[in-house]
Amino acid sequence: MRYVSTRGQVPARDFDSVLLAGLAEDGGLFVPEAWPSLSTAEWRALRGLPYPALAARLLGLFGAGHLPLDRICAEAYAGFGHPATVPLVQLDTRVFALELFHGPTLAFKDMALQLLGRMFDHVLAARGERVTIVGATSGDTGSAAIEACRDRAAIDIVILHPRGRTSEVQRRQMTTVMAPNVANIAVEGDFDACQDLVKAMFNDAPFRQEMRLSAVNSINWARIAAQIPYYAAAALALGAPDREVAVSVPTGNFGNVLAAWAARRMGLPISRLIVGSNRNDILTRFLAANDMSMRAVEPSLSPSMDIQVSSNFERLLFEMLGRDAAATREAMQRFRAEGRMPVPDAAWREATSLFRGFALDDEGTLAEIGRLHREAGYLADPHTAVGTAAARALAPEDPAIPVIVAATAHPAKFPDAVERATGLRPPLPARMADLYERQERYGVLPNDLAAIEAAVRAHALRNAA
Ligand SMILES: *Cc1c(COP(=O)(O)O)cnc(C)c1O
Repeated sequence: MRYVSTRGQVPARDFDSVLLAGLAEDGGLFVPEAWPSLSTAEWRALRGLPYPALAARLLGLFGAGHLPLDRICAEAYAGFGHPATVPLVQLDTRVFALELFHGPTLAFKDMALQLLGRMFDHVLAARGERVTIVGATSGDTGSAAIEACRDRAAIDIVILHPRGRTSEVQRRQMTTVMAPNVANIAVEGDFDACQDLVKAMFNDAPFRQEMRLSAVNSINWARIAAQIPYYAAAALALGAPDREVAVSVPTGNFGNVLAAWAARRMGLPISRLIVGSNRNDILTRFLAANDMSMRAVEPSLSPSMDIQVSSNFERLLFEMLGRDAAATREAMQRFRAEGRMPVPDAAWREATSLFRGFALDDEGTLAEIGRLHREAGYLADPHTAVGTAAARALAPEDPAIPVIVAATAHPAKFPDAVERATGLRPPLPARMADLYERQERYGVLPNDLAAIEAAVRAHALRNAA
């Protein structure tokens, strides 16, 4: 299995190289040269596998088969707080919450990053190399990346977060990790500014090489690959490949829903993909009216979705444009220059035949959390609630088709919103109960590339010494 860039200006690469590189040198994102796919009989044969075994099996189809996947997957999910790894909880006659938040940081990013940290370790050790991981987070990616990389000998990690725009739990989960290879920077700016700084560091070729920069945010292909197995697990549990299912995903960077799309591309009968947004609704506007235009990011109760540029959308665009890299490159360049993405009508129509968009404001989110608690006795975090509301609004007409909602965060990560909506304050699990007493460590820097690069260099040099 080889990987190509959505912008078509780098040679095809293997899995390890894509894992370590993150973003392609031409600014594009890596995608498989051809999508693997399983027959109905092959999907049926995967039913009932323990989750780590299923993940190992599916990752093997993406060119990672030379890694000890069974061991890596078993170790990655061993510390999860539920024996099913990704339990499926029924909320009404047809809506199911796929709980992806039983990992060390209580959010779905652990699903991929616990695997990625171990894959990096393995590949780097074999090559005798070190890397510096830089990432931008609007909340959960950062803590999940830090948990995945902390104390690993061959990795330094620097995570940028928008100052004052993450929840206190999210910030503390990052800034209380005292491992010497971990650095946190609060940037005076919003999440998109942090993400732009990370992209700018990658586009600074000398710096990129000097630091051996690598990424674990959702532009890294291996993260998408690692998110496919849980959609397969849920679909198989609900009767696929012999029964159609739909999927609803509270969406930010479009990585999680793209993984569901990939599961469909691999042969699972997923007949609809529902994209949930908060008031930052660029994707909803795109799906409703082919209006992919940037607006200012506004804070909401679901901060991991406070995004106006969904980076992983580029992978879908590439597919919708018939894998035309030149057209993808041009569309992305115009998006950046003009703030509006020109998507040809045919490509937009293809997207809307499968995807539906739904946006919910904070008031609606609180009402949905309250309703889930009243009607199903279920405590949902604000992101998950956007997903369940989207599922109810846009479920396929056929009531026999179940809807799998990606439950992306534990309610205890967003206790204020849950308490406002239900009167109940969900407690942190015992292993995190002293989070508010732990000491924090982080720097604060302006939204300025030179200042950020200097801080990254200082951190990496100290640890390499
Ligand atoms: C990251 C995140 C999302 C958005 O996922 P994307 O892959 O960026 O679309 C949704 N909910 C939570 C809790 C998250 O941490």
